[in-house]
Amino acid sequence: MTCAYCSFLGPRRALHAHLASAHANEVRTGHDEASGKMFFALACPRCGQTIEKRVKPRWKDPGFLEEYSREIRLVAFDLLLYHLEAHEPRPEDSG
Ligand SMILES: [Zn+2]
Ligand SMILES: [Zn+2]
Repeated sequence: MTCAYCSFLGPRRALHAHLASAHANEVRTGHDEASGKMFFALACPRCGQTIEKRVKPRWKDPGFLEEYSREIRLVAFDLLLYHLEAHEPRPEDSG
């Protein structure tokens, strides 16, 4: 698979690790002021669709987003990979 952000090429697992380390700042995290619930979001670099998900309710510790930001990114990029896999294959992905 080809990285959607740069020219990195590798198997899914390697790409997942690459995304989490090289493109971590693509994932936005925050919390909804009204409900207090936390979420992460990232935009698909190909179609612009926002992939957004609330984190688990048990994760209510205020320090959660800092402490678990790496785990959040891994989950977020896993969702992005699933999303990208659902796109129509493009010629440059065949390698
Ligand atoms: Zn990349
Ligand atoms: Zn997309």
